[in-house]
Amino acid sequence: MKKLEDESVKMELARLPLTRDHLVDLFDYLDEALSEGCDHKLTKTKEFLNSKGLSDSPIINWLYAKGGGCDCEVLNNVEDFCMDLFGVKNGDRLTRSDEGQ
Ligand SMILES: [Zn+2]
Repeated sequence: MKKLEDESVKMELARLPLTRDHLVDLFDYLDEALSEGCDHKLTKTKEFLNSKGLSDSPIINWLYAKGGGCDCEVLNNVEDFCMDLFGVKNGDRLTRSDEGQ
């Protein structure tokens, strides 16, 4: 994936429909949930959003736009995008903001 330019990082961060902490929790949740396999929908993603009381439609639209059309794609494409966005190096894990980088 092409590295994001500084300006687009700012723009993307401003548009982010979820906090970094929620994103990290979502990826952890999917990691666990996908041991049962992906049903090619956003079933587990929606489960997570509902459990956090987040309204899912703007978030789902954003996930689609970032290549997350189903749970496993969220975990692959959207996590990659977020790693890039938060400047996490390859091989490192994306962690919650209070865990420090
Ligand atoms: Zn899938």
